[in-house]
Amino acid sequence: MKTIEILDRLIAFDTVSHRSNLGLLDYVQDLLEQAGAAVTLIKNESGTKANLYATIGPKDRAGVLLSGHTDVVPVEGQDWTVPPFKLTSKDGRLYGRGTCDMKGFLASALSTALIASRKPLKTPLHLAFSYDEEIGCIGVRSLIDMLKNAPFRPLFCIVGEPTNMAVATGHKGKTALHADCIGKEAHSALAPTGMNAIHLAADFVTALRAIQADIVKTGIKDADYDVPYTTVHVGKINGGLVVNIVPNLCTLDFEIRSIAQDNPDIILAQIRKAADKITEKARAQTSEVAININTAFTYPGLNTPTDAQVVSFVKSLTGANGTIKVAFGTEGGLFDQELDIPTVICGPGSMAQGHKPDEYVSLEQLEKCDKTLGTLIDRLVAGL
Ligand SMILES: [Zn+2]
Repeated sequence: MKTIEILDRLIAFDTVSHRSNLGLLDYVQDLLEQAGAAVTLIKNESGTKANLYATIGPKDRAGVLLSGHTDVVPVEGQDWTVPPFKLTSKDGRLYGRGTCDMKGFLASALSTALIASRKPLKTPLHLAFSYDEEIGCIGVRSLIDMLKNAPFRPLFCIVGEPTNMAVATGHKGKTALHADCIGKEAHSALAPTGMNAIHLAADFVTALRAIQADIVKTGIKDADYDVPYTTVHVGKINGGLVVNIVPNLCTLDFEIRSIAQDNPDIILAQIRKAADKITEKARAQTSEVAININTAFTYPGLNTPTDAQVVSFVKSLTGANGTIKVAFGTEGGLFDQELDIPTVICGPGSMAQGHKPDEYVSLEQLEKCDKTLGTLIDRLVAGL
């Protein structure tokens, strides 16, 4: 199976997000250009990473887009029993970092593209391979800007994140935030003369939890998710030096994971209002107090209607009856919101294996993906 040969090559490129993906893209560009595809690379400012966009078939009309990211999460601190950057085949499974998230799909998309290049396609096939997805869907934005100005936008987009080849119509959005809680230093024997930044942070966390409780009670629900509402969560707190100094700084990393029906900006406005209330109260004691909130990154959720054309189209390719929604974020929300391209998530493997040591995709899943994309080629030959 050609897909496995390609996957073997893709896994060997260590494309952890902070490293360059250009080696991998060189290989992909060569493969595609030899097959006659039109390939564009969109590099980042420093020229160390790039997005790749390719079209197979007619260049004068819109086609179907297969989208995926080339970067993977780190392996440090994980207990791997196989080499992470070498494909290992064992008991019907293919092991290696990125096999399931999501180079398995990329390999299947590439072998499909090579087959498609030898067929008389009426409707073209597009590939979009991005970088820096794992650190907040950052890299793909320049590719999206390019498509905004392109004469044709794809008709449909399939994001090949692992869904066990189920058709997923939705995922939550994410807004990652950082707060600096600023107080005033003092000798702890004179604690009330300072302003304890950790205490401020504790009040702020309490306010975040109250906002979460309110969302649970009165917010919009979407029963298709395991956690059927928007969540607000603090992931990291850091403050203080020693017990006998009143600390002047405590920092928090926190996030909003919003169902697509919720507007995270409204929740963020509530959070800012709560922070203002805390600092106002503290100002009675000292003027040197602030809670400064910054957005690290944000990407939208996806909520494609289950009766949308793209859903019935991809269901007809996989043979699926129903649809699902997934817990993890993808670039799909950006393709949908920024470009109005009807989008679903459908790819081989399970996210239960993603981001973990001994990550794998099963041969069965990869074959199912190849078969699905093979059916896609038949449809592109017939014309959409
Ligand atoms: Zn992924």
